[in-house]
Amino acid sequence: MIERGLKDVVTPVATSDGAGVRLQRSIATERLDHLDPFFLFDHFGSENANDYVAGFPMHPHRGIETITYMLDGSVAHRDSLGSSGVIGAGDVQWMTAGSGILHEEMPKIGPRRLDGFQIWVNLPAKLKMTRPRYQDVPSSAIPEVARPDGARIRVVAGEVDGVPGAVREIFAGPTYLDIALPAGRTFEQPVPRGHTAILYVFQGEVSVGGAAPSRGPAIRAPHLAILEDGDVVRVHAGGAGARFLLLSAQPLREPYARYGPFVMNTREEIAEALAELRAGTFIKP
Ligand code: MN
Repeated sequence: MIERGLKDVVTPVATSDGAGVRLQRSIATERLDHLDPFFLFDHFGSENANDYVAGFPMHPHRGIETITYMLDGSVAHRDSLGSSGVIGAGDVQWMTAGSGILHEEMPKIGPRRLDGFQIWVNLPAKLKMTRPRYQDVPSSAIPEVARPDGARIRVVAGEVDGVPGAVREIFAGPTYLDIALPAGRTFEQPVPRGHTAILYVFQGEVSVGGAAPSRGPAIRAPHLAILEDGDVVRVHAGGAGARFLLLSAQPLREPYARYGPFVMNTREEIAEALAELRAGTFIKP
């Protein structure tokens, strides 16, 4: 068993997207364009409605999956598949854009704050034009594993201590865990060798790998940590405890072309998507 070490730590970049939503971006920046198969990592969070209420009006996606995980507040959505709804605290929306969808994602002004994550996972060439679909997962359907040492793990995708996650049948075989770890405790989790694996620390601080005397540097919230290859991840919580996401997925190692909300394999396929949008043939029957 090889333990995964720490490869790099990325500081999120403050940016604005959609009609003017302020967010912290860790992947899809000048510093880190992508981390195969992850093509975007956004953390949105604010107590100020002006930072998010403009939302993401109707826009297309093709060739990727977009995964939205809410910590607080809510986002209303509707799309060209005819679906609509509201995702709230603890809910997940796993959207496979495939051949194409048009949707809007509009945060609602709430009593507290808006907090959550959106991640894009690339689709392999053979599935780029697959039929679009949603897996809408309410918070109550996401299993939570409580370990004897006080760690609490929400299993969005993947498997923890034999408990399978709520989201299944995803090509990249992803792990998506939300882990709350008490002060001084260690979280250990197998992750398939060869998978790209990242941590996103959003509360407290952690260190990665090794026995106590040789632990790595502190990774403080909010930071993205990129892990080296191996079979197992070991994360230690700092003195105030920590909360973080652990994500892993199989890299595609295919050519890619990104333009806005599209990730395809070639420039020609991007041009085709844009031409179809103009012609009104983007959405496939
Ligand atoms: Mn979108």
